[in-house]
Amino acid sequence: MMPGTGTAARRLGMRPEGAESVLVMKFGGTSLGDRQRIDTVVSLVRQRRERSPVLVCSAHSGITDLLLDGARRAAAGTPDLEPVRSREQAVLEALGLDISIVEEDLERLDQMFRGLALLGELTPRSLDAVASFGERMSVRAIASVLRRRRLPATAVMADDAGLVTDSRYTRATPRPEAYTNLRAALAAVEGIPVVTGFIGRDRDGNVTTLGRSGSDFTATIVGKAIGAEEVEIWTDVSGVLTADPRLVPEARPVASLTYAEASELAYYGAKVIHPATIQPAVEARIPVRILNTMDPAAAGTVIAPTRPRAAHEVASIASKKDITLVNVTSGRMLGQSGFMAQVFEVFQRHDVVVDLIATSEVSVTVSVDQQERLADVIEDMKGFGKVSITEGNALVAVIGERMRQASGLAGRVFQALAEAKVPIRAISYGATKTNLQIVVPTDRGGETVRALHAVLFPPA
Ligand code: ASP
Ligand code: MG
Repeated sequence: MMPGTGTAARRLGMRPEGAESVLVMKFGGTSLGDRQRIDTVVSLVRQRRERSPVLVCSAHSGITDLLLDGARRAAAGTPDLEPVRSREQAVLEALGLDISIVEEDLERLDQMFRGLALLGELTPRSLDAVASFGERMSVRAIASVLRRRRLPATAVMADDAGLVTDSRYTRATPRPEAYTNLRAALAAVEGIPVVTGFIGRDRDGNVTTLGRSGSDFTATIVGKAIGAEEVEIWTDVSGVLTADPRLVPEARPVASLTYAEASELAYYGAKVIHPATIQPAVEARIPVRILNTMDPAAAGTVIAPTRPRAAHEVASIASKKDITLVNVTSGRMLGQSGFMAQVFEVFQRHDVVVDLIATSEVSVTVSVDQQERLADVIEDMKGFGKVSITEGNALVAVIGERMRQASGLAGRVFQALAEAKVPIRAISYGATKTNLQIVVPTDRGGETVRALHAVLFPPA
């Protein structure tokens, strides 16, 4: 019998002929590294085989760092593949596989390291070529584990499968044709495609990468390419929480987030998909679900265009430390057109990113989270008026698209802060009203988050 046909094939987990994949399952490095986790992965895939999943996988944890480090050492004159080889060997052994399945990759890497040592230089392009091997080795391993457990699977190198990108090495983005290419290539694969995350190829044929943690990006790119119903991101946390559990022990999982809320949250370092990464899902309106391989029964967090009405008006509370406020006061200038433009031109010139902006008739306050080049910004700003800075702040952000409809929410927030006697140094509540930002002294940050959590997420 031909593989891929009929009910027998379906029972074996093959893609029934003509059936379209409707699901992308992305597994991170920690989900693929040991026997117990891989058992979970295999059973998750088996449970979903009727939906003809396409898998996207990261490198085994630690491998990308070892590869990049190895490339740097090689270019500095000491090529040594041993750290990569032994780590990979340890993982493969744990999975019951033989190192021989990645021998060709290791051979190639060895040649590359020697080449770098001879040249004595390291370009972003060669870094990408080296880094790509982590994912290449990992998909060979996963496909082979699946085949052993009688789930037909094929390792797919995304660069060979048409994931064409621009040539911005180490942070490439896909070109429009990547989607049609991938769709065609994946439809032709026998069994379950196990696709490399993170990597692509530019139009000159050079390997590129999508930036660190780029496998999530690959998952949404593949999702858009195949018109998936859903993209599952399997990681080691049970989705997004209402607050950082280190600050708020009673923080609980958030069942659903809108794309806009997830993007705002990601900006504060919440364990959630990166804003750029979610873009293909936004474009194709595909829900992205964050799930935990250590607790597969947990519902996780689904990120979608909208979320249910019954859910909380606020999605989550996030915070960042080490924030500096820059205040410019100028009674003379502020009301005049062009003043703001001049102020922001200074930040732009020194490449300093601004988070929060608050203005009054005579002053403008902005918050920044970097110290580099700030002195130059302040120097150049002096021509505009009186400049002062306040260091040592925490920025607390209350995020939720539905806040704009919630009457009295701002009142409840400020009441809670007044009761906790937290001094507020700046506030900003943009026109989209998805994000209410409050700046407080750093040592009051945790308390602020807890006070807000108590009023915004009262115990059920
Ligand atoms: N392996 C790559 C990294 O470590 C990509 C990923 O894990 O998503 O950044
Ligand atoms: Mg990751």
